[in-house]
Amino acid sequence: MAPEAAVIPETRLFINGEFREASYGATFPLKSPTTLEITAQVSEASTQDTNDAVAAAKAAFPAWSALSPHDRGEYMTELARLILEHEAELAHLEAVSMGRPVSGYWDAKAAARKLQYFASCAWNGQGQTSLHTPGFVNMTLRQPFGVVAVIIPWNVPVYFFINKMAPAIAAGNTVVVKSSEKAPLTSAKLAQLIQRANFPPGVINVLSGHGHISGSTLAHHMDVRLLTFTGSGRTGRLIQQAAASSNLKNVIFELGGKSPTVVFPDAELESAAKETAYSIQWNSGQVCMANSRVYVHASVAGRFLALFKAHLRDSVRMGDPTDPNVNHGPQADEVQFRNVKRYIDMGKRDGELVLGGGEEDEVLGGHKGYFVMPTVFTNTPEDAQIMKEEVFGPVVNINTFETEAEVIQKMNASEFGLYAAIYTQDLSRAMRFATSMEAGTVGVNCTSPTGAFDLPFGGYKASGVGREGIHHSLDNYLETKTVLVKVGQTSIV
Ligand code: NAD
Repeated sequence: MAPEAAVIPETRLFINGEFREASYGATFPLKSPTTLEITAQVSEASTQDTNDAVAAAKAAFPAWSALSPHDRGEYMTELARLILEHEAELAHLEAVSMGRPVSGYWDAKAAARKLQYFASCAWNGQGQTSLHTPGFVNMTLRQPFGVVAVIIPWNVPVYFFINKMAPAIAAGNTVVVKSSEKAPLTSAKLAQLIQRANFPPGVINVLSGHGHISGSTLAHHMDVRLLTFTGSGRTGRLIQQAAASSNLKNVIFELGGKSPTVVFPDAELESAAKETAYSIQWNSGQVCMANSRVYVHASVAGRFLALFKAHLRDSVRMGDPTDPNVNHGPQADEVQFRNVKRYIDMGKRDGELVLGGGEEDEVLGGHKGYFVMPTVFTNTPEDAQIMKEEVFGPVVNINTFETEAEVIQKMNASEFGLYAAIYTQDLSRAMRFATSMEAGTVGVNCTSPTGAFDLPFGGYKASGVGREGIHHSLDNYLETKTVLVKVGQTSIV
């Protein structure tokens, strides 16, 4: 780690295969959420820079889309290799920009695996044929859209960058990726690796900057044919409005959550408590699918709560995220920190605080940076604001229930629908819940962040539009064209 940690990160824009300053030299400061010192001055892409990136992607599209899947895949395989080679540096850059602990950093490996998969899967982008119309041989062709915009959040940046970019370019599209202003360093590092992997200029362009400038320009751009976005519902709505008011570009959305978990008396309480506590603590609670609402059957609530609190007390090691012994870093920045504290105040007003965020010292855990201790509330009314809105921090509400019907109703009484979980030994009950939950993923005797490499991910209701996954994403980035070929009836003489 030490030699890589000393490397000065790249902070410029990557357009048409080259790094360059933003127009007029505009930059924005990136502050460490741990030390509160300025880590870097990062290029702020202007509307002109964004237009240049889209133009570069558009120019690169004909040649890139004409390559065979095998040829496109070779660049991707090389990029996967480089990502693995730079795993420690990527982990370090994330730690100093948004506070993600280097311990347990899995993003680079997961990103490399996705790249390796999509490097060879573009062969599957095939159409169908049909002889069911008399006198015709009909078919569909699968073709890339053209320029795809990729807008990512700050909480798991390397993974989201690759998870969207890899299937898009495998399918033959070219891309403009915009990183989050809270975590731009790893995306800029990926741009360096993309350059080293020798991708043709313009195939992948990487911008840094704020959403209302470069993000909004991409969302309104007439040459962007598809925009894939992970982030908040608020921004998702703005992007959808921009798409509607420009060229009606296709959108794929992975948005926020308020995920519920239910624990029945027959559950293995220890593992249920351990896993639900981890779900809300991992990445300092800044996880879309974190189980921020936990419903425990009244008959086991006391025991569950004791186990839950004990697990958090024993397992959380808060501190400098570059320290490999730390597993709980700060919140990503001041805006995020103030927002979480605001919800903690609401929680105290409406519910009962049983762990964490009381007075200032307890919120900060004695640290100078934007730290928030895991915070637990009980007995919060279902209609309280904190039960309805996404906190996106290490804050959980634990309520009790008596009957199955009652808890199904409570779990589904949300505009979000990303992930739900049930802990029980009763298989029939588990399957009743799996079918009743209005959620894109349901965990049975497991909770988020548990996922599966080969199954889709996405949200019901306001948690998203579309699904991502190895069997879905390629399809997302291919148009379908119907070709009707009239063959006539002339026989060979
Ligand atoms: P955000 O919506 O504030 O920002 C996400 C990205 O959108 C950033 O790059 C930002 O610069 C950009 N952006 C902001 N305004 C824009 C605009 N007007 N036009 C275009 N782009 C704009 O979200 P965030 O704070 O970065 O991330 C947290 C949110 O992301 C949470 O709601 C979380 O639940 C969600 N999230 C969802 C998933 C999922 O898979 N469903 C995964 C991670 C995070």
